[in-house]
This record gives sequence, structure tokens and C-alpha cells, in this order.
Amino acid sequence: MSASLTPDVPTLLVKIFGKDRPGITAGLFDTLAAFAVDVVDIEQVVTRGRIVLCALVTEPAGGTEGELRATVHSWAESLKLQAEIISGTGDNRPRGHGRSHVTVLGNPLTAENSAAIAATITRTGGNIDRIFRLAKYPVTAVEFAVSGVETEPLRTALATESHERGVDIAVVSAGLHRRAQRLVVMDVDSTLIQDEVIELFAAHAGCEEQVAEITASAMRGELDFEQSLHARVALLEGLDESVVDKVRAEVRLTPGARTLIRTLKRLGYQVGVVSGGFTQVTDDLKVRLGLDFASANTLEIVDGKLTGRVIGEVVDRAGKARLLRRFAAEAGVPLAQTVAIGDGANDLDMLNAAGLGVAFNAKPVVRRAADTAVNVPFLDTVLYLLGITREEVEAADVAEPA
Ligand SMILES: [Mg+2]
Repeated sequence: MSASLTPDVPTLLVKIFGKDRPGITAGLFDTLAAFAVDVVDIEQVVTRGRIVLCALVTEPAGGTEGELRATVHSWAESLKLQAEIISGTGDNRPRGHGRSHVTVLGNPLTAENSAAIAATITRTGGNIDRIFRLAKYPVTAVEFAVSGVETEPLRTALATESHERGVDIAVVSAGLHRRAQRLVVMDVDSTLIQDEVIELFAAHAGCEEQVAEITASAMRGELDFEQSLHARVALLEGLDESVVDKVRAEVRLTPGARTLIRTLKRLGYQVGVVSGGFTQVTDDLKVRLGLDFASANTLEIVDGKLTGRVIGEVVDRAGKARLLRRFAAEAGVPLAQTVAIGDGANDLDMLNAAGLGVAFNAKPVVRRAADTAVNVPFLDTVLYLLGITREEVEAADVAEPA
């Protein structure tokens, strides 16, 4: 029997449905083996304890199809399973041009949103080839494998749906590169951690309001990042350096941060952070979390006091993208195989430069510009965008506790 099947070759589709238990698959193929058929395709899923097993096999030789049908039905009946056998020809039609993975994160995932997403895929000319669940906790994550439409128009159509419905939909093109992603670079403030580090320092210096005012002014576009950084750091002048340890202790990791990093490290990824904040905090995070790279601005400290200045080149919007490129070069990873995660406008260049840019609980302007957006407050959901399932994450944790 040749490996590829011509479309006119008669085939039998055997579908088994019922309560799952060990031995069903073995039993079916044992039954079919008596007729010396070849297996063309097998798909099996188990949902809430019920199995759907589909086997596509060649027609049995010598006109024994009737006997095969009777034998399969009686085997199925003996196990209280339903069997359906459909005659036809050939295999699946070849999948259309253009392949994408559509990951949907719902909290909860409603039937209405599922209907809208599927209808949008159909409207763009796409076909859903497979659907499977990546996670049921802390969010429901499902992946649709779609063919027949290019990734860009599919992403554009689904972005509108995502925005209107408040459900996260990430569209990435399928192919080997998705498995080859090897470097993840994250922003720190409001991405890896829940806090803005400058605000933690400001609280100790009693200048929270002034700092907030400068931040707001920068957001209105009246100051660029570098000007606003200098203005805010100047307000910290005279602060005792013992505050650095206090701030380090106050930093709260984003839920899922440890899971994300631990899992990426197990998969052989290199992981880094870039921050418009301060090395006094990012260096500590690097050690605590086992990161490969960390870069940020450095607060100048002289005679045990903050001087209100930063040392060296400022890490700003362009600087973050530059650092992503530098980390990628040092890690020996092509830029196309990098993932960047961030929430702010000064992450945009980095998100655009990376192979996959993920806007994490970002402002609308960032969300619109990024390849993908995650709006649930769990950093480990980024793993689902890479096609990693919750089960795989948990199995690795059981095998090697953190
Ligand atoms: Mg940020």
C-alpha cells in the first residue's frame, strides 16, 4: 500500500462513541486487524469521560465489508458503545493555503462568544480544522487550528471581535517557528510585577502626588519618557539607600509570573527583563527568578543617599527594543524567534521588533499595535499562546516540584 491515498480509493470511516475506559482503541483495531485493512487516519478525543474515536481505514479485500461492519457493531455493543461506519473514498480534502493558531482565553468562555468567533473565522474564508482545550484554569483556553485564510486578515477580523466582546483572541501563524521560539523578554512594571517601582520609592520619599502628576503629564505627551524619568527621580534626592531593600520587599509579582518563567526555563528558553525602572530592583528579580538577562536604569547612590539622578544611558522606548536585539544576539536567537511582553507605550518598539509581541493588560493604544493581547491578569496565560497546555505545565511541576 502506498503512503499517499488517491482520492478515488474506497475507504471506511469508523466512528466509536461512548463511555471511555481502558482498551477501547486496542479493541477496535484488534477487531479491524482481522480484515487486514490499513489505517489512513485516527483522531480521538475524550470529553467529560466520553470518547469519540474516528478511524479511517482502507476497504477490506475480498468483499468482506459486510462482515467487517457486523463484527465492529457486535464488538461495540458488547462494550455498550455506539458505532457508525460510513463508506466513502479517499482521505480529507487537502487543507487550504494559510495556517493559523487562534487561541481564545475566556473567563468564562461563553457559547455566544464561541459562536461569534467561529462565524468570524468562516466569514474570512477560513476553515476550522481542529479545536482543543489548552487550559481550564485559571481561565478557559481553547485553540482553533485554522486553514484557508492568511494570518493577517484573520487577525484583523478577530481583533474587532475581541475588542467588542472583551474576550482575548490571539492569532499566530502556524509553522515550525512557533516551536522554535527561544527568548522571552518582559517589561517589569505592571507586567512582571503588579507595581510601578518609581511609585514605591515615591511613597518612601513622601512625593507620590508629585510623581503621579509627572506621570500623567508624560501620558498627555507633554514630556517624553526621559524627561519624565529625570523629573521623577529628582524628587527622590536625599532618600536613604536602605529604602532600596524595603522597595524590593514590597514588589508584588504578577500572578502566574513564577509559573511562566519556570515553564519557559524547563523548555530551554532564555528569559530576560527590560525596564524603564531601576536595576536596584531588576537585579534582585533576576537572581530571585533565575532570569538570564536584566537591564534597567540605575539610581545613583552617593554616601548612602539617592542623589536624584540616574547613571548612564536611559532605558526608554527605543532602548527597550535595542536591548531585546542585544539579548537575542547574546542568546544566539534570531529576532523572529523572540517573544516580547509589555503593557505600556514605551514597550511598543520592543513588541513590534519581536517575533511575537504580547500586549499584557495594556492600554488600548498598545493593545491595537501588538500582534496579540492578553487581558486576563495571569502572566502564565502567555504559555497558551505558545501552544503549551495547562496539563503539560502541571505535569512538569509534579515531576519536578518548584
Ligand atoms: Mg510597564
